[in-house]
Amino acid sequence: MIYNEEFETMPRDVIKSLQVKRLQQVLERVYHNVGFYKKSFDTAKVKPDDIKAIADMKKLPFTTRKDLRDNYPFGLFCVPMSNIVRLHASSGTSGKSAVFGYTKRDIEIWSELVARCLVAAGITKNDIIQNAFGYGLFTGGLGLHYGAEKIGASVIPMSGGDAKRQLMILQDFGPTVICSTPSYALHLAEEGKAMGMDMRSLKLRVGIFGAEPWNNALRDEIEKLFGITALDLFGLSEVIGPGMAMECLEGRNGMHVFEDHFIVETINPKTGEVLPEGEEGELVFTTLTKEANPLIRYRTGDISRLITEPCRCGRSHIKMEKVLKRSDDMLIIRGINVFPAQIEAILVNIEGLEPTYQVIIDRVGALDTLDLQVEVNDKICSDAGSIKELQKIEQRIAKDMKDFLGIAARVKLVQPNMLQKADAKIIDKRRI
Ligand SMILES: [Zn+2]
Repeated sequence: MIYNEEFETMPRDVIKSLQVKRLQQVLERVYHNVGFYKKSFDTAKVKPDDIKAIADMKKLPFTTRKDLRDNYPFGLFCVPMSNIVRLHASSGTSGKSAVFGYTKRDIEIWSELVARCLVAAGITKNDIIQNAFGYGLFTGGLGLHYGAEKIGASVIPMSGGDAKRQLMILQDFGPTVICSTPSYALHLAEEGKAMGMDMRSLKLRVGIFGAEPWNNALRDEIEKLFGITALDLFGLSEVIGPGMAMECLEGRNGMHVFEDHFIVETINPKTGEVLPEGEEGELVFTTLTKEANPLIRYRTGDISRLITEPCRCGRSHIKMEKVLKRSDDMLIIRGINVFPAQIEAILVNIEGLEPTYQVIIDRVGALDTLDLQVEVNDKICSDAGSIKELQKIEQRIAKDMKDFLGIAARVKLVQPNMLQKADAKIIDKRRI
């Protein structure tokens, strides 16, 4: 089934010309309304008029995560706040996160994109969807929610966490679809098993998973545990949220990128050079229809490959392979994006610490764990009666990690010079 047959099965040449037309419109809008883009285009000596074809895009400068941070909170907005109906944000310490605005029309388009994803997974108005993506500033929960309502499905707005309650509702409400991060689904299966539940006897038939990397071995495991079909959903809060690309039930090999709303390129992450379609590289997205804060050539840091072969589902939009690698040091912990620099920003604000730390990320059962060891300075160490003081610092770090990044960390302070400065600051023991 296809939600929007006209656009999703458009011949390739028609898609390309629609993209060029929409690209020219969005370039005009950002050039005249967003100071950042005017400046960056002027610096690159390019005008919206210079872009006559997709191949000309390479003349346009990239937008980076740093640009989002530098323009915090509303510097990249293209419309006045009175036209904005929703604000989402990425996690991060103040000034280091990014804010994303949506006009009414943005919300409508976003809902349609998610509706397309759900229909591509064979979901109809007769389905009940347990939505275990987080609701709040994170785009996952609400993004999924509006698309599900659009197709008339019954949504249970569970949000993340509270496994026991999730399991009770899985049994009592009989949802046919579950949406979450793949590791959370695995966690639910483990908890359910421990409670003596037979996960395969639930009414679930489809799972839509995303927000963190997962490979096909994990897919097989989830499918076996629940007796469901598991499909991959892709989205980035910076660009619009979930619903940028979706795996179709018929193809199950890569996710269709909705090219009437986005242009996707792959580049060499070192040189920035555009790669031929089909070569592995960093994904770069341009929004074609977003009104509130359009993004031009946004470098995602996600490494993938575009698949140009036609898909048996009939959709003509290009596909991207699962994202399993990053071009930078971003970590994804329980679906939350974290940079080591954000952890450092928390630590430098707490008195008594050396900047030396080590993060160990592991997966216990199905869930990610984060252990953080931080060196204290000599002064704190030599103060008498400082055990209480040290505990206070540990609690403060744990609280800040939770408050600013949304991550539960086990914190341990260690004596000065205990951690080798040459050692890796980040040790990721998880298998993806
Ligand atoms: Zn397909």
